[in-house]
Amino acid sequence: MDRIKMYIDGSWVSADSGKYRKIINPANGEAVAEMTEGTAEDVRKAVAAAKKAFAPDSPWRQLLPEERAALLLKTADLIDERAEELAVAETNSMGRVYKETRYDDVYAVSGAFRYYAGIIHELKGEATAENGDLISLTIREPLGVCAVIAPWNYSIGTMAAGLAPALAAGNTVVVKPSSLTPVSTAMVFEAMEEAGFPAGSVNLVLGPGDEIGTELAENEDVAKITFTGSTATGQKIIENSGKGLKRCALELGGKSPFIIFDDADLDAAVDRLMFGIFLSQGQVCVAGSRLLVQESAYEQVTSMLKERIPKIRIGMPLDPETEFGPLVSEGQLETVLRYIESGKEEGAELLIGGNRIVDGDFAKGYFVEPTVFVKCTPEMRIVKEEIFGPVLTVQTFKEEKEAIALANSTRYGLAGAVFTSDLGRALRVSNQVNTGMLWVNTYMENSPSIPVSPHGNSGLCLDGGMAGLEEYTVLKQINLKMQPSRTGWFTGIEEM
Ligand code: NAD
Repeated sequence: MDRIKMYIDGSWVSADSGKYRKIINPANGEAVAEMTEGTAEDVRKAVAAAKKAFAPDSPWRQLLPEERAALLLKTADLIDERAEELAVAETNSMGRVYKETRYDDVYAVSGAFRYYAGIIHELKGEATAENGDLISLTIREPLGVCAVIAPWNYSIGTMAAGLAPALAAGNTVVVKPSSLTPVSTAMVFEAMEEAGFPAGSVNLVLGPGDEIGTELAENEDVAKITFTGSTATGQKIIENSGKGLKRCALELGGKSPFIIFDDADLDAAVDRLMFGIFLSQGQVCVAGSRLLVQESAYEQVTSMLKERIPKIRIGMPLDPETEFGPLVSEGQLETVLRYIESGKEEGAELLIGGNRIVDGDFAKGYFVEPTVFVKCTPEMRIVKEEIFGPVLTVQTFKEEKEAIALANSTRYGLAGAVFTSDLGRALRVSNQVNTGMLWVNTYMENSPSIPVSPHGNSGLCLDGGMAGLEEYTVLKQINLKMQPSRTGWFTGIEEM
């Protein structure tokens, strides 16, 4: 069985604790690898290595921007070369189906490395000479040691969203992945090692989130924490990093509204809706988990869901034909089943699904049926809280205003969608729905060059594009006088 180690100061190391944690395949409950369990002491070693690698005369700091770009590009190529292996590893530990890990996760990583390599030279300040002989300018400097803490869902993609811009901007990095999905992360580190990143510039620490994450948040030598995960953990990070006034970029949970008006192309809308909630078994931060449908389209939309959902190919996640696999862990299975029970108790009605799948080999894994609840109301837990599973809630509305009010009725503000053929309405709704990302007549399509910023309890950060790269720098203002001269302020001195 593979033993996943930490990567600190250019070497693969096991923790002194001597403890190992098994990585479980959620499709069958069997161990696929084991991971060394680090402690706060290992984090301190990794941060010290990253600090040393950030010293002005270090090999990493001596690299020109184009040399950093070359390392990022080489890593991207190596990741693509190992795409098959990487996808299988991610599917075996997270349960996300092969079709998704192979064609989404892997390219999210190599794509992020390529994108930030490509804009490295755009990282620059401003200058003005509007005050006569004074030139005022800004330069952008890297922050120092950046910590990237990643979740288990979309594990390498979310890691790359922080890691790639941090490195492109010239920082050194310590990464902490979820203990459920360290295998694919370690493979990305193997690619960075092979590409030639200098020792200490990239470090990987493994271990329990509370101990490792708290040390990263509190460690005085960490300049910035980039965290992707639940809102509850994000709040702890803000508390723990407060003393050191650390920069924090938080990408948190969501409960995204998916609004369908009766004038929409309902065939496309329902197709995107199913993609938005059942991709990765609903374990996606931007999952469109709340359907808000105009009353006049309710019958048509729900009967399309009833007809189409049974056709989803549920199966073992490594099978390239499978479209829907297991949840990530036994814990997540229990959480999702608890939410389904609470939905029933609070008076929602099941349109379809609602059960654990236990036929044949499915019984060994953590499979739950694609589930849709109708007759939902805003105060129900299944409507207010992030379930992070394949559970769609359905609410109806009469008018545009009501749709907007329902959309804005949770504390989250990550993403949302509106389906309509009325352009004016699409613009009004996009403008008034309080989310950081809004899709019109589509879902989960965007460009890496356009930045995004979550609203409400969904986070505090600016991610993507040039603005996202600049977030890994600190601005310095410099003022240059062309000719030294007195101020003329102290008049008595003027005669001297
Ligand atoms: P989580 O908050 O439980 O864990 C995320 C990471 O934080 C893990 O690596 C974990 O070990 C670590 N951690 C745990 N306790 C910590 C602490 N006290 N200090 C620092 N780090 C700690 O989240 P999860 O269950 O792994 O991921 C699912 C969540 O992530 C969902 O809420 C989902 O919406 C969110 N998510 C958000 C985005 C986004 O871009 N907004 C993307 C993916 C996932």
